[in-house]
Amino acid sequence: MSKILSAVAWPYANGPRHIGHVAGFGVPSDVFSRYMRMAGHDVLMVSGTDEHGTPILVAADAAGVSAKELADTFNAVIVDDLVDLGLSYDLFTRTTTGNHYLVAQELFRTVHANGYMVEQTTQGAISPSTGRTLPDRYIEGTCPICKFPEARGDQCDNCGNQLDPTDLIDPRSKINGETPVFVETQHFFLDLPALAGALGEWLDEREASGTWRPNVIKFSQNILEDIRPRAMTRDIDWGIPIPLPGWEENASKRLYVWFDAVIGYLSASIEWARRTGDPERWREWWNPAAEGENSLAYYFMGKDNITFHSQIWPAELLAYAGAGAHGGSPGAYGVLNLPTEVVSSEFLTMGDQQFSSSRGHVLYVRDVLARYGPDPLRYFICAAGPETSDSAFTWAEFIQRNNSELVAGWGNLVNRTATMIAKNFGEIPAAGALESVDEDVLAAVRRGFDTVGDLIGRHRQRAAIAEAMRVVGEVNKYLTVTEPYKMKDPGQRERMGTVLHVAAQCVSDCNTLLAPFLPHAANRVHVVLGGAGEFMPMPRAERVVDLDPGAGAGLGGYPVITGDYAATPEWRSVPVEVGRPIGLPAPVFTKYDPSVVDEELARLSDA
Ligand SMILES: [Zn+2]
Repeated sequence: MSKILSAVAWPYANGPRHIGHVAGFGVPSDVFSRYMRMAGHDVLMVSGTDEHGTPILVAADAAGVSAKELADTFNAVIVDDLVDLGLSYDLFTRTTTGNHYLVAQELFRTVHANGYMVEQTTQGAISPSTGRTLPDRYIEGTCPICKFPEARGDQCDNCGNQLDPTDLIDPRSKINGETPVFVETQHFFLDLPALAGALGEWLDEREASGTWRPNVIKFSQNILEDIRPRAMTRDIDWGIPIPLPGWEENASKRLYVWFDAVIGYLSASIEWARRTGDPERWREWWNPAAEGENSLAYYFMGKDNITFHSQIWPAELLAYAGAGAHGGSPGAYGVLNLPTEVVSSEFLTMGDQQFSSSRGHVLYVRDVLARYGPDPLRYFICAAGPETSDSAFTWAEFIQRNNSELVAGWGNLVNRTATMIAKNFGEIPAAGALESVDEDVLAAVRRGFDTVGDLIGRHRQRAAIAEAMRVVGEVNKYLTVTEPYKMKDPGQRERMGTVLHVAAQCVSDCNTLLAPFLPHAANRVHVVLGGAGEFMPMPRAERVVDLDPGAGAGLGGYPVITGDYAATPEWRSVPVEVGRPIGLPAPVFTKYDPSVVDEELARLSDA
């Protein structure tokens, strides 16, 4: 048994999330976490909403509300979306909590004390017409790396690279279009060159493990070649105060949003432990494991965030431990584990275009859940998501996969098995002597626990669900070949009982194989097979109060996602119970008329 940290990218709270977001970080991390729990590991799955930085302020300005009000609104929307999608977080919190501010400040202070946070004079923008400071959020221009014409002063949303306003080609004020003038200002820079050696060693070791996706490890090694100090403070008035004398009081300088957002993985783990009443328990996932134990950390995100997880966050952790060229010693949290694996997905596109909230070319998680429920969306993401290359969402494929794979494949197997048992026995019949056709199908399903589990463990979820559905197909074939529905003669009753017993066993096992992907459906199939209660534990939203009122952004109460996953079933074949009553089943999935495709396309063009 290993300790598994499942560290899921923090959705940004400047608006509702579209299905591209949950395809990249949400569903894949939940499938992995649920499987790891089933396989007997001790999983801690954490995340939250990322609520600092320029885009929150821009959106708040546009809406005429404060940054905190905007974050409150979209934190609540995102919590509801992720709960309804069934994402099984141990804790999903926010970056505006007092706990997060205190943890981020502890990291900053120790990294600074160890000599890796270097004060430098840099160029800050002012508006020539007013003489006032022009915050990064109000500067845009052309990205020097990818030439995107609307890059912001802190980051390019097109290529994901971190920028400084002075990097932009043709910088301009978003307020009035004038060209800013740059004057000297003081900021703290993370001394990445002093950490490059340690980062390189870690990446080489990770490459040797052979588990990372090749493009992710290559990208991470390549960006080491051009490593330079990066500003970790910003001219902005929304964010975490810089915890040093003379800086803390300066309301116009704050920690850079990415410095604090990645610390969220640690602070959420600490908040989780504090809320369980065992405040030091987070250390089991974060401090190096004792001899003979294993502690692994998996980070899930989209490809635009690789830099922050394979360079900035590991650099913060190494600097905190005093493990770079300047030496130093760890702070109160001790030596903290580096990522075992950075699991980066590619992009989901909508048809042949990128999702774009601003251009109305977008599908919000909320709307898809309201119209179709979680199963078809989770299934589409698992079976056709952007795992190792960009993939396109189309309504035609969404409906086709639902109808021909979920309904006609898996749903039909469940339905006809339960219907034949209900009509002929009313309970799961006992098996007589098994024939080779029975032995073969049972063995094929049992092998699925190895093949599907191995693929999920290696983050090959498209292949994993395809393999599980192939196994479902084997069982459907078994019923076609054995034809229990033709066994009308009383002399065939024992054989019919055997076939339906075998089929019930196969359905039960297939339900376990599909449960990490389709937990809601797994609970319904469990009931069809005569089970009671929940088969797969579900997350819940819960309102909590800030543990450190006064230290953060002044939250008071806020919603979190949490859950009790101790009753998660084991990843193995469990014998079905002979004599368990089975009634006529309700359909497990809903079939949609193909005309839905045109309705959805019309809805999009109206938007
Ligand atoms: Zn760019």
